[in-house]
Amino acid sequence: MIPYINEYDTPECKNLAETAKKSIRTPASMGLDRCIQCGACTASCPAARFTDYSPRQIVKRVMENDRSILESEMIWSCFYCYSCNVRCPRNNSPVTIVQVLRQMAINEGIGVEKLGYFVEIGEYLAGNGASKIPGAGIQNMERDLGERWVKFKKNLESIRVELGLSSRDIRNTHGEVQAILEGTGYFEREKWIKAKIQEKHVNQLLKTQCSKKEDTSGDFGFESDREYTGHTALII
Ligand code: SF4
Ligand code: SF4
Repeated sequence: MIPYINEYDTPECKNLAETAKKSIRTPASMGLDRCIQCGACTASCPAARFTDYSPRQIVKRVMENDRSILESEMIWSCFYCYSCNVRCPRNNSPVTIVQVLRQMAINEGIGVEKLGYFVEIGEYLAGNGASKIPGAGIQNMERDLGERWVKFKKNLESIRVELGLSSRDIRNTHGEVQAILEGTGYFEREKWIKAKIQEKHVNQLLKTQCSKKEDTSGDFGFESDREYTGHTALII
């Protein structure tokens, strides 16, 4: 078996619906087959309000076994707020289906560059046993939430003292986190993801050179995330 594919997460089944239902992420009670295409999921989806994204359509395409959904940008618009999960009158969970589809797409090397942002988080977790916001994330939050947010994060320790809270406890986990990551095959998968992103990056560069045009679409680099020097990474 290929080491970076989790057979429990994306089991080989005869169609997309079966894979979604049999995934370890999916509760046995999920009503995928009971979907009536009412659109309550799309109506309650914040991503659908601002983009062409539609959880109802995703469910429909999965039920029709339309594998081209794996290539669609649509599956990357969800941000796991779970509104669709709560609102569905048939106990269906478009958000769970999206998670399985993303995993399938990644296993096929599609959209793998979207993981660039998260590689840095994994590396930090392995080294320090704690999570952090990558540089690119800080840049985005600063843009979206403004100076006030940055000031708040920078002064977090003194604010905690003022509130009578103790210092945050960022411990060296003495290799425990590394052992878990090792045991679950994280490092192998990380290596594969990095190689895939690099491969896509090189292909994109070659394409750009051939067409002599600069293409700035997409985010192909975990390297570029690290190059952001506006603020040091913050631990969360
Ligand atoms: S809310 Fe539920 S039943 Fe209605 S379209 Fe969405 S998934 Fe289907
Ligand atoms: S979890 Fe995803 S699909 Fe569901 S409502 Fe939120 S953004 Fe939309």
